[in-house]
Amino acid sequence: TPALTKIGAQMSNLTGVRAIMKDIIETLRAGAGQQFINLSAGNPLILPEVEKLWRDCTADLLASSEYGEVVCRYGSSQGYAPFIEAVVNDFNKRYNLNLSDRNILITPGSQSLYFYAANAFGGYTVADQGREGGDLKHIVLPLSPDYTGYGGVALTPESLIAYKPTLDIDASAHRFKYRPDFSQLSIDENTGCVIFSRPCNPTGNVLTDEEVSKIAALAAPYNVPVMVDSAYAPPFPALNFTEMTPLFGGNVIHCMSLSKAGLPGERLGIAIGDAEVIEVLECFQTNACIHASRYGQAIAARAINSGALVEISETVIRSFYQNKFTVLETALDAAMPDSLPWFLHRGEGAIFAWLWLKDLPITDWEFYQQLKQVGVIAVPGSSFFPGLRSEWKHKQECLRISLTGSDEEIATAMERLAEVATKVYSGA
Ligand code: PLP
Repeated sequence: TPALTKIGAQMSNLTGVRAIMKDIIETLRAGAGQQFINLSAGNPLILPEVEKLWRDCTADLLASSEYGEVVCRYGSSQGYAPFIEAVVNDFNKRYNLNLSDRNILITPGSQSLYFYAANAFGGYTVADQGREGGDLKHIVLPLSPDYTGYGGVALTPESLIAYKPTLDIDASAHRFKYRPDFSQLSIDENTGCVIFSRPCNPTGNVLTDEEVSKIAALAAPYNVPVMVDSAYAPPFPALNFTEMTPLFGGNVIHCMSLSKAGLPGERLGIAIGDAEVIEVLECFQTNACIHASRYGQAIAARAINSGALVEISETVIRSFYQNKFTVLETALDAAMPDSLPWFLHRGEGAIFAWLWLKDLPITDWEFYQQLKQVGVIAVPGSSFFPGLRSEWKHKQECLRISLTGSDEEIATAMERLAEVATKVYSGA
């Protein structure tokens, strides 16, 4: 193998949940005979209505004179003009905004967007005259746990800093909710950018409109971009089960993805925000990969213009996963002993449930191994605290359970989980 650079070594490591996915794939392969209930996936299920939407949009594109122009030619780095126009028109109307095409960037998936932002705004600045290195600008994750993928985006890993939340606990209901801890959160001249997901992967949390405004206001005096990762937010895929209003304008970059609306394979992300920030990110993209898939953009433009994407998001995608969450919490409430200190995070959105087993006598990794023994796979929670340096036992007490199983699988898995938890807490 060729010698690797510092960045080469770092980027060829599997970070966060990807490392565990390897173990899961090997488990599934080794246990060929054994039937596992796999609730680890971050991959959304294929819903028939959603597949049909994309098939219909593709058929329409194929029949149009636009086809050659879309797939046989390069385009601008910013994105395919008809798609940008569709986003501008839809958002201006829907949210009463005044966007122009200069406020939009289309990226190959939204993960790439966080990579550009993390390295354009986080890391070392150019040194001032007479000084050695520049200043370290932090990428701030205001509420940990958050999306595991943020763990791999910083080429200067020391720039990534996450903050412990406060916990609202409803002990008798066995529910809890994370809140940003504004008494600890530091956003100042050392901050390069802020990133958080809303709704949140892995917890299903939705930061309130007030919390988002407060974070944006803290960052505004320092011209710090606030990337609101809206991969699960309205208007599509609309995977919010609670009211939430997207925030636009000022230093907020509203970041979207088509992945949870049925197009993960086409790799499409959308950034909406200040034209100067958008331009920086666009140049970064030109250098990195030229532009996103134009086929994906052409079919997405159709789905937005017809209104079908928002319609299907609100009537099909949202209720599908909201029902799964209800199945999961009903099963847990029925199976988990009231005497155990278990707490399910409020299911406010996304496609996961997040379970906190307070004072768990073993680590989350060991709990994951015991679950495998009873044929259930969920993801140990400690992979979802990228950038959190401080010791916190809570990190080893959580589990992410994907809502991508059948109702029966989810219910059975929760019964088995309750048995394992009971055994573990009793010290057996
Ligand atoms: N952000 C969040 C919160 C996610 O859950 C995911 C994928 O799971 C992504 C970003 C990346 O998605 P994509 O690059 O497919 O847009």
